[in-house]
Amino acid sequence: MDSAERSIREDLAALYRLVHLMDIDHRIYNHHSARIPGDAEHILINPFGLLQDEITAAALIKVDRNGNAADDQDTSTSQAGAIIHWAIYDARDDVNCIVHHHSPAAVAVSTLEQGLLPLSQGAMQFYQRIGYHEYEGMVFSDDEKPRLAASLGPHRLMLLRHHGALICGRSIMESYVLTDDLEKACRSQLLAMQSGGSILLPDPAVCEHTAQQFERLPQPRGEHRDWPAALRRLERMGIDYKGFDPVPR
Ligand SMILES: [Zn+2]
Repeated sequence: MDSAERSIREDLAALYRLVHLMDIDHRIYNHHSARIPGDAEHILINPFGLLQDEITAAALIKVDRNGNAADDQDTSTSQAGAIIHWAIYDARDDVNCIVHHHSPAAVAVSTLEQGLLPLSQGAMQFYQRIGYHEYEGMVFSDDEKPRLAASLGPHRLMLLRHHGALICGRSIMESYVLTDDLEKACRSQLLAMQSGGSILLPDPAVCEHTAQQFERLPQPRGEHRDWPAALRRLERMGIDYKGFDPVPR
Protein backbone atom coordinates (compact mmCIF):
# COMPACT_ATOMS: atom_id res chain seq x y z
CA MET A 1 0.00 0.00 0.00
CA ASP A 2 1.45 3.38 -0.96
CA SER A 3 1.43 6.40 1.32
CA ALA A 4 -1.35 8.11 -0.66
CA GLU A 5 -3.71 5.16 -0.16
CA ARG A 6 -2.76 4.87 3.49
CA SER A 7 -3.55 8.54 4.03
CA ILE A 8 -6.96 8.22 2.29
CA ARG A 9 -7.73 5.12 4.39
CA GLU A 10 -6.96 6.97 7.62
CA ASP A 11 -9.04 9.99 6.68
CA LEU A 12 -11.99 7.89 5.48
CA ALA A 13 -11.89 5.81 8.68
CA ALA A 14 -11.88 9.07 10.66
CA LEU A 15 -14.92 10.19 8.67
CA TYR A 16 -16.82 7.04 9.70
CA ARG A 17 -16.05 7.75 13.35
CA LEU A 18 -17.10 11.39 13.00
CA VAL A 19 -20.40 10.46 11.34
CA HIS A 20 -20.95 8.01 14.19
CA LEU A 21 -20.33 10.81 16.71
CA MET A 22 -23.04 12.84 14.91
CA ASP A 23 -25.38 9.98 15.90
CA ILE A 24 -26.79 9.66 12.40
CA ASP A 25 -25.49 6.19 11.49
CA HIS A 26 -27.99 3.40 10.87
CA ARG A 27 -26.41 0.21 12.23
CA ILE A 28 -24.45 -1.48 9.40
CA TYR A 29 -26.54 0.01 6.59
CA ASN A 30 -24.77 3.24 5.69
CA HIS A 31 -21.73 3.62 3.51
CA HIS A 32 -19.17 6.31 2.87
CA SER A 33 -16.50 5.98 0.21
CA ALA A 34 -13.47 7.65 -1.34
CA ARG A 35 -11.58 7.40 -4.57
CA ILE A 36 -8.10 5.86 -4.52
CA PRO A 37 -5.42 8.02 -6.17
CA GLY A 38 -4.20 6.33 -9.37
CA ASP A 39 -6.85 3.57 -9.36
CA ALA A 40 -9.93 4.31 -11.46
CA GLU A 41 -11.34 0.79 -11.09
CA HIS A 42 -11.78 0.68 -7.30
CA ILE A 43 -13.07 2.81 -4.43
CA LEU A 44 -12.51 2.46 -0.70
CA ILE A 45 -15.69 1.65 1.25
CA ASN A 46 -16.85 -0.33 4.31
CA PRO A 47 -17.28 -4.10 4.23
CA PHE A 48 -20.94 -5.04 4.70
CA GLY A 49 -21.53 -6.05 8.32
CA LEU A 50 -19.35 -3.69 10.37
CA LEU A 51 -20.75 -0.92 12.52
CA GLN A 52 -19.41 2.54 11.80
CA ASP A 53 -17.58 2.69 15.12
CA GLU A 54 -15.75 -0.52 14.17
CA ILE A 55 -14.25 0.98 11.01
CA THR A 56 -10.50 1.44 10.94
CA ALA A 57 -8.09 2.22 8.12
CA ALA A 58 -7.44 -1.52 7.73
CA ALA A 59 -11.11 -2.50 7.79
CA LEU A 60 -11.92 -0.49 4.66
CA ILE A 61 -11.97 -2.51 1.45
CA LYS A 62 -11.25 -1.71 -2.19
CA VAL A 63 -14.25 -2.64 -4.32
CA ASP A 64 -14.96 -2.66 -8.03
CA ARG A 65 -18.15 -1.53 -9.77
CA ASN A 66 -19.89 -4.76 -8.75
CA GLY A 67 -19.08 -4.23 -5.07
CA ASN A 68 -16.57 -7.08 -4.95
CA ALA A 69 -13.39 -6.65 -2.90
CA ALA A 70 -10.12 -6.51 -4.81
CA ASP A 71 -8.08 -8.53 -2.33
CA ASP A 72 -10.60 -10.77 -0.57
CA GLN A 73 -13.07 -12.91 -2.50
CA ASP A 74 -15.15 -13.50 0.63
CA THR A 75 -15.77 -9.83 1.36
CA SER A 76 -18.03 -7.32 -0.31
CA THR A 77 -19.79 -4.06 0.36
CA SER A 78 -23.56 -3.75 0.26
CA GLN A 79 -25.08 -4.01 -3.21
CA ALA A 80 -26.90 -0.70 -2.82
CA GLY A 81 -23.67 0.92 -1.67
CA ALA A 82 -21.77 -0.07 -4.78
CA ILE A 83 -24.55 1.06 -7.11
CA ILE A 84 -25.16 4.42 -5.47
CA HIS A 85 -21.50 5.38 -5.09
CA TRP A 86 -20.34 4.26 -8.53
CA ALA A 87 -23.32 6.01 -10.16
CA ILE A 88 -21.92 9.30 -8.90
CA TYR A 89 -18.18 8.62 -9.35
CA ASP A 90 -18.71 7.61 -12.97
CA ALA A 91 -20.75 10.74 -13.68
CA ARG A 92 -18.79 13.35 -11.71
CA ASP A 93 -15.00 13.60 -12.01
CA ASP A 94 -14.91 16.30 -9.32
CA VAL A 95 -16.36 14.06 -6.60
CA ASN A 96 -13.76 12.23 -4.48
CA CYS A 97 -15.71 11.26 -1.35
CA ILE A 98 -19.35 10.32 -0.85
CA VAL A 99 -21.30 10.05 2.40
CA HIS A 100 -24.63 8.22 2.44
CA HIS A 101 -26.79 8.13 5.56
CA HIS A 102 -30.40 7.76 6.71
CA SER A 103 -30.56 10.37 9.48
CA PRO A 104 -34.16 10.80 10.64
CA ALA A 105 -33.90 14.57 10.08
CA ALA A 106 -32.68 14.21 6.48
CA VAL A 107 -35.29 11.54 5.75
CA ALA A 108 -38.03 13.75 7.22
CA VAL A 109 -36.96 16.75 5.11
CA SER A 110 -36.70 14.49 2.04
CA THR A 111 -40.41 13.71 2.37
CA LEU A 112 -41.45 17.37 2.33
CA GLU A 113 -42.64 18.63 -1.03
CA GLN A 114 -40.60 21.83 -0.59
CA GLY A 115 -37.54 19.92 0.60
CA LEU A 116 -34.80 21.82 2.41
CA LEU A 117 -35.77 25.44 3.06
CA PRO A 118 -33.23 28.29 3.49
CA LEU A 119 -34.27 28.92 7.08
CA SER A 120 -30.80 28.99 8.64
CA GLN A 121 -27.45 30.40 7.57
CA GLY A 122 -26.13 26.86 7.18
CA ALA A 123 -29.08 25.91 4.98
CA MET A 124 -28.65 28.98 2.77
CA GLN A 125 -25.35 27.62 1.44
CA PHE A 126 -27.46 24.93 -0.24
CA TYR A 127 -30.01 27.39 -1.68
CA GLN A 128 -31.06 26.02 -5.07
CA ARG A 129 -27.98 23.80 -4.84
CA ILE A 130 -29.46 20.46 -3.88
CA GLY A 131 -30.78 17.58 -5.93
CA TYR A 132 -33.79 15.37 -5.17
CA HIS A 133 -34.18 11.78 -6.25
CA GLU A 134 -37.58 10.09 -6.33
CA TYR A 135 -37.87 6.83 -4.41
CA GLU A 136 -37.92 3.72 -6.59
CA GLY A 137 -37.55 1.03 -3.89
CA MET A 138 -34.28 -0.31 -2.54
CA VAL A 139 -31.39 0.42 -4.89
CA PHE A 140 -30.63 -3.05 -6.22
CA SER A 141 -30.36 -2.38 -9.95
CA ASP A 142 -27.76 -0.69 -12.14
CA ASP A 143 -30.70 0.70 -14.12
CA GLU A 144 -31.10 3.41 -11.51
CA LYS A 145 -27.53 4.73 -11.92
CA PRO A 146 -28.22 7.30 -14.67
CA ARG A 147 -31.26 8.57 -12.82
CA LEU A 148 -29.24 8.96 -9.60
CA ALA A 149 -26.59 10.96 -11.44
CA ALA A 150 -29.20 13.09 -13.21
CA SER A 151 -30.98 13.83 -9.93
CA LEU A 152 -27.73 15.03 -8.34
CA GLY A 153 -27.00 17.23 -11.38
CA PRO A 154 -24.15 19.68 -10.71
CA HIS A 155 -24.75 19.79 -6.94
CA ARG A 156 -22.84 18.48 -3.94
CA LEU A 157 -25.94 17.29 -2.07
CA MET A 158 -28.89 15.13 -2.90
CA LEU A 159 -31.84 14.10 -0.78
CA LEU A 160 -33.09 10.66 -1.71
CA ARG A 161 -36.84 10.94 -1.12
CA HIS A 162 -38.06 8.66 1.71
CA HIS A 163 -34.53 7.23 2.05
CA GLY A 164 -31.72 9.55 3.12
CA ALA A 165 -28.95 11.88 2.02
CA LEU A 166 -26.00 11.76 -0.34
CA ILE A 167 -23.13 14.18 0.21
CA CYS A 168 -20.62 14.37 -2.66
CA GLY A 169 -17.48 16.26 -1.68
CA ARG A 170 -14.31 17.07 -3.57
CA SER A 171 -12.46 15.71 -0.56
CA ILE A 172 -13.11 13.66 2.57
CA MET A 173 -12.83 16.84 4.61
CA GLU A 174 -15.43 18.62 2.49
CA SER A 175 -17.88 15.72 2.74
CA TYR A 176 -17.47 15.81 6.53
CA VAL A 177 -18.28 19.53 6.76
CA LEU A 178 -21.23 19.36 4.37
CA THR A 179 -22.63 16.29 6.17
CA ASP A 180 -22.57 18.16 9.47
CA ASP A 181 -24.00 21.35 7.96
CA LEU A 182 -26.82 19.48 6.17
CA GLU A 183 -27.77 17.59 9.32
CA LYS A 184 -27.99 20.77 11.37
CA ALA A 185 -29.92 22.56 8.62
CA CYS A 186 -32.47 19.71 8.50
CA ARG A 187 -32.85 19.65 12.29
CA SER A 188 -33.30 23.44 12.45
CA GLN A 189 -36.01 23.35 9.78
CA LEU A 190 -37.89 20.56 11.53
CA LEU A 191 -37.69 22.36 14.89
CA ALA A 192 -39.09 25.51 13.29
CA MET A 193 -41.92 23.56 11.65
CA GLN A 194 -42.68 21.68 14.88
CA SER A 195 -42.93 24.91 16.88
CA GLY A 196 -46.21 25.76 15.20
CA GLY A 197 -45.16 29.39 14.79
CA SER A 198 -45.25 31.32 11.53
CA ILE A 199 -42.00 30.78 9.67
CA LEU A 200 -40.20 33.72 8.08
CA LEU A 201 -38.70 32.92 4.69
CA PRO A 202 -35.64 35.06 3.93
CA ASP A 203 -35.49 37.19 0.78
CA PRO A 204 -34.40 35.00 -2.17
CA ALA A 205 -31.72 37.56 -3.07
CA VAL A 206 -30.23 37.24 0.43
CA CYS A 207 -30.29 33.44 0.17
CA GLU A 208 -28.43 33.55 -3.15
CA HIS A 209 -25.98 36.13 -1.80
CA THR A 210 -25.27 33.90 1.21
CA ALA A 211 -24.80 30.82 -0.95
CA GLN A 212 -22.26 32.74 -3.03
CA GLN A 213 -20.49 33.88 0.14
CA PHE A 214 -20.07 30.25 1.13
CA GLU A 215 -18.65 29.53 -2.33
CA ARG A 216 -16.00 32.21 -1.80
CA LEU A 217 -14.73 30.55 1.38
CA PRO A 218 -11.49 28.52 1.00
CA GLN A 219 -12.33 25.50 -1.16
CA PRO A 220 -12.75 22.56 -0.88
CA ARG A 221 -14.51 23.23 2.39
CA GLY A 222 -13.14 21.92 5.65
CA GLU A 223 -9.49 21.31 4.95
CA HIS A 224 -8.01 24.34 6.65
CA ARG A 225 -9.46 24.36 10.15
CA ASP A 226 -12.45 22.01 10.47
CA TRP A 227 -10.64 18.79 9.65
CA PRO A 228 -7.65 19.21 11.96
CA ALA A 229 -10.10 20.16 14.74
CA ALA A 230 -12.20 17.06 14.06
CA LEU A 231 -9.12 14.82 14.18
CA ARG A 232 -8.05 16.41 17.46
CA ARG A 233 -11.43 15.44 18.91
CA LEU A 234 -10.95 11.81 17.86
CA GLU A 235 -7.47 11.81 19.39
CA ARG A 236 -8.76 13.30 22.66
CA MET A 237 -11.44 10.59 22.81
CA GLY A 238 -8.81 7.88 22.28
CA ILE A 239 -10.52 6.59 19.12
CA ASP A 240 -8.02 4.45 17.19
CA TYR A 241 -9.38 4.90 13.67
CA LYS A 242 -5.86 4.63 12.22
CA GLY A 243 -5.56 1.02 13.35
CA PHE A 244 -4.14 -1.47 10.91
CA ASP A 245 -4.77 -4.47 13.15
CA PRO A 246 -7.09 -7.19 11.90
CA VAL A 247 -10.76 -6.42 12.50
CA PRO A 248 -13.78 -8.69 12.90
CA ARG A 249 -15.50 -9.67 9.68
ZN1 LIG B 1 -29.44 3.96 2.03
